Amino acid sequence: MLGTKRIIVFIGLPGSGKGTISKLCVDNFGWLQLSTGDLCRKNIAEQTEIGKKIDFAIKSGKLVSDSIISEMVFDWLCDSFKSVDTVIFDGYPRTLVQANQLHDFLMNNSTSLNYKLDIVRFVVSMQMVKDRLSDRIICSNKNCQMAYSTDSTSKFFPKNPQFCDRCGSLLVKRPDDQPEIVGDRLETYNRHEQELLKFFVSNQYTVIDISADQQADVVFAELKRALHL
Ligand SMILES: [Zn+2]
Repeated sequence: MLGTKRIIVFIGLPGSGKGTISKLCVDNFGWLQLSTGDLCRKNIAEQTEIGKKIDFAIKSGKLVSDSIISEMVFDWLCDSFKSVDTVIFDGYPRTLVQANQLHDFLMNNSTSLNYKLDIVRFVVSMQMVKDRLSDRIICSNKNCQMAYSTDSTSKFFPKNPQFCDRCGSLLVKRPDDQPEIVGDRLETYNRHEQELLKFFVSNQYTVIDISADQQADVVFAELKRALHL
């Protein structure tokens, strides 16, 4: 049997800062972070079996099914565990169906895969994320996607208000960060998050709460303590 592999599922509202913390973990510990969006694009580009299914779904105007997403994630997981011991899931599982599929996969492979799955919930106040999302602009370069704030007192305020500090591309507002739709989006997300948490708790997974209203470095320090790193 291999050494213990760790899966850490990040859960939190958009704007809770989990993307930033995820990047810090990758940079500091050499972990891998799952991005289902990137994985879909990669599979399509390489025309894998899964990529063909995704491409077909998108071209027929359908949502990519939970089973296809999960199948792709499990492939990625097995592959990633060849080179690292810890991975972060941010944005997966997104639905209860996906959470069930993940749970079944881990159960079915528990003899060959010695794993530990923990949930980290980034707890933030609704007002805080509304403010953060309304102020958020991101780099338009798909390979960068660095987030900045339009609030000039924030330390994420870009050096040049229009361009990315890292790659120089134009900074844009994401369509779903428009203040008028942020509220609805957060409500929907909140409902899904509650369902997922209930599922994980009832299946005896550990849920660690991190208070994410603070600055990124403080949140990161709290995470390290909570995970005994
Ligand atoms: Zn950039």
